[in-house]
Amino acid sequence: MSSVQGMRKCPKCGGTLFYDMNCRTTEVYEMCLRCGYQQQCILLRNDDGTVKIGDDGEWLMDCKETVGYGAARLCRKEGIGGIYAFENPLSTEDQAALIEDLHQPDTDEGSYAVLFDPQSGAFTVLAGSLPEDYTEEDDG
Ligand SMILES: [Zn+2]
Repeated sequence: MSSVQGMRKCPKCGGTLFYDMNCRTTEVYEMCLRCGYQQQCILLRNDDGTVKIGDDGEWLMDCKETVGYGAARLCRKEGIGGIYAFENPLSTEDQAALIEDLHQPDTDEGSYAVLFDPQSGAFTVLAGSLPEDYTEEDDG
């Protein structure tokens, strides 16, 4: 295994942020399961594929943040499903399609769809229940 996955608190909404870090390259992908905030850090590379090195000898990285407009988790009872972050506000049609999808008989209970307004910080639940704030696991 060369990658570490885990959860931490979302800097935008306080929800649960999923991260996946490559230990070898330190490249990171993060996604909030509630507001849809995403951050991706990738190494800058030269034309020959080698990593670009900064003046201080550190690897140069390019980090990109994407504001989220909400997220959805769609799980089927057979265990197939996925988590989606909305990078743009959903149209009324998209919302209707999503709600219909989440009300299919084979949709698992843990499924949800929430919209997030980055300006006001308000959530609108389309289906399911709003994911709770992230809480630190008590390691004992
Ligand atoms: Zn968030």
